[in-house]
Amino acid sequence: MHEAMVAENILEAILAQVPKKKGTVVRIVISCGVINALNDEAMKFAFDSISQGTICQNAKLKIKHIPLKASCNHCHKKFNFDLYDPQCPKCGKSDIKLGADAPLLLKEIEFEEDTD
Ligand SMILES: [Zn+2]
Repeated sequence: MHEAMVAENILEAILAQVPKKKGTVVRIVISCGVINALNDEAMKFAFDSISQGTICQNAKLKIKHIPLKASCNHCHKKFNFDLYDPQCPKCGKSDIKLGADAPLLLKEIEFEEDTD
């Protein structure tokens, strides 16, 4: 359960960052790479269950999947690496060089203050 741990870390990070005022977190955007990808459904489920009773309980969680860049050692084509089809889309060779996988990041927190 990779997602459950990530959800906990994210919730902690958000609670540490949001202003100490009354309000709710309405939207959270996180991004992840390809090798350490998060499963959207598992992640939303994990986050929903641990955020109950916190200011994040009604937040919409969006997960951006950042593609992994690769380049072909044979024809030098640059492309987005596909885990399920790990070869050059141009020449079909699997002699490819992978870039760095995108880290897991907390990109945005949208906070709405209570008006009353
Ligand atoms: Zn190629």
